[in-house]
Amino acid sequence: MIDYPPRIPLAQTPTPLQPLHRLQQQRGGPLLWLKRDDMTGGPLTGNKVRKLEFLLAHAREQGCDAVITCGGIQSNHCRATALAAAQLGFDCHLILRGLPEHGEPAAGNEFLDKLAAATIRYCEPREYFAHLESLFQEQEAHYATQGKKALSIPTGGSNGIGVWGYVRATGEMLDDFSVQGMDPAAVFCATGSGGTQAGLTLGMHLHGSEIPVYGINVCDDEDYFVRKVAADIAEWAGLYPAQASGVDTAQLTAKVIDGYVGRGYALADEPVFATIRQLAALEGVVLDPVYTGKAMHGLLSEIDRGRFADAEHLVFVHTGGIFGLFPFAAELVHSGPA
Ligand SMILES: *Cc1c(COP(=O)(O)O)cnc(C)c1O
Repeated sequence: MIDYPPRIPLAQTPTPLQPLHRLQQQRGGPLLWLKRDDMTGGPLTGNKVRKLEFLLAHAREQGCDAVITCGGIQSNHCRATALAAAQLGFDCHLILRGLPEHGEPAAGNEFLDKLAAATIRYCEPREYFAHLESLFQEQEAHYATQGKKALSIPTGGSNGIGVWGYVRATGEMLDDFSVQGMDPAAVFCATGSGGTQAGLTLGMHLHGSEIPVYGINVCDDEDYFVRKVAADIAEWAGLYPAQASGVDTAQLTAKVIDGYVGRGYALADEPVFATIRQLAALEGVVLDPVYTGKAMHGLLSEIDRGRFADAEHLVFVHTGGIFGLFPFAAELVHSGPA
């Protein structure tokens, strides 16, 4: 039994595990199953809410009144944090990378951040990368002047506390697999800040499973994520020595499928858009260009090249991202009658 730290239930779990039979009929090859973590909530949709269950429980335990976090202007993590903070009565401040479009109303996740009444500091990417730490410190100091204590949550909620979200999700998936009587050859997820992959990798180990976990990175590179996943797991081991005793964290090396970042983070090209259209039209499943669509394009391309092609069952964690899809509408579908 895994001794979990305090958790505030925010996500709708367990999420469904869904087989993509129509995709298999069309393409042949392994049967791909989706772990529907795009159904962890309506506005809270996606993977970040699983991490926030543990992060915000920690904030409450520490007597915090506020949370501060950061991300891209269309960050799913920032949106989920803003909404969950509102639900629980925390103040929320977001440090967003990018400037608002002049004269345009906020769209997608950024719109929901505002609706949830998070305060926002927009930063030019250059300023963001150079001064992120001091931007957090300034805001913590600002809350302190109001007599408020703030928890600073890193990018994507990926740290030694956030990894618990996907340790728990791993247990849920292993239950799903036994209910289905199915033994998948591998589990895949999109990797952006590493915490989901770290949680799944650690979770398989803690639950005594040998199913390999592959992250398909949507930014940075393999080297970066091998180090980042190791750092998150090491931080976890330091914070929870009782749970980590007997765990050889050095053996938990992240498996990364690199080569599908394309032109960069949050930039997508036609093959990714084609995959998004295909899954929507064939299975009614909606992916996003930043994470899940890019990673699914990567996975299907690897299968086409023969990798994993002999597997009977593969599992892809659908980590959400629907609100980040809408700003790409013009690239995805043409207006006017079909
Ligand atoms: C953040 C995010 C990811 C990546 O998860 P990390 O834990 O940051 O690596 C994948 N998909 C979606 C939709 C996300 O918002």
